Amino acid sequence: MRRKYRQPTVYLDFVAANKLQNQGFIAWRFLPGMSFGEDCAWWGRQDNRPSSHEGLDFRCFVDSQGRTIPLAEGMLVPVAEEGDIRQIFNDFLGQSVLIAHDLCGNGRRLYSIYAHIKAVDTCRLGEHVLAGQIIGSIAYGRCRTAAAGSGQVPAHLHLSYLWLPLSFQKTFDWRTAHLDQEIIFIDPAECLSHSLRACK
Ligand SMILES: [Zn+2]
Repeated sequence: MRRKYRQPTVYLDFVAANKLQNQGFIAWRFLPGMSFGEDCAWWGRQDNRPSSHEGLDFRCFVDSQGRTIPLAEGMLVPVAEEGDIRQIFNDFLGQSVLIAHDLCGNGRRLYSIYAHIKAVDTCRLGEHVLAGQIIGSIAYGRCRTAAAGSGQVPAHLHLSYLWLPLSFQKTFDWRTAHLDQEIIFIDPAECLSHSLRACK
C-alpha cells in the first residue's frame, strides 16, 4: 500500500528558504506520479508519461491541519548538496541546472538536476555552490490548477539524481536522456534521506 506521506524531513533547506514552517509545514506530499520511476503524470488526466519519471516532483506539502498546500511560482530553490554547476539549459517549463557532486565510484560521478526553475543571475557555469545556496526560483507552470487538461503542467520543482561516466562529454538533453545507456538515474528520495555517500 502506498504510504500517504513520505520522507517528511528531506530537503529542509527548501522549507527554511521559503519559511514554509510559518505555513504549518509538516511533511512533503507526493501524489501518485510524482515519485521516481512512476509511469503516469500527476496532472491533468494522469496520462502515461513518455518515459518513466526520472526524478521526484516537489509540488505540495501537508500543513499542521492536514491540508495539502501547493508550492507557488517564485519560491526559492536551494541546492540540497554542494557541487559545481556544469550546465544551465531550458526545459519545457523553465530552466534546468545540472550540478556535479564530489562523489565518484565505478568510473562514474554523481550529478543532480534542478528543473523547471528560473535560475538566479549569480547561478553561473563553473560556480561552486554550497548546500542551502539559492540557485533559482520555481518557474511558472502552464496552468494554475492540477485539474487542468493534459499538457497543462502546474508549477513545481523537479529534482533528479544521476550517475554519469567520468568520460561523459555530451550536453545533457531531457529529450534523449531516457534513451541514453550512459545515464543512470537514481531515486532522489533515497539520496535525500541519507547522506549522498549512501547513494553508491
Ligand atoms: Zn518531474
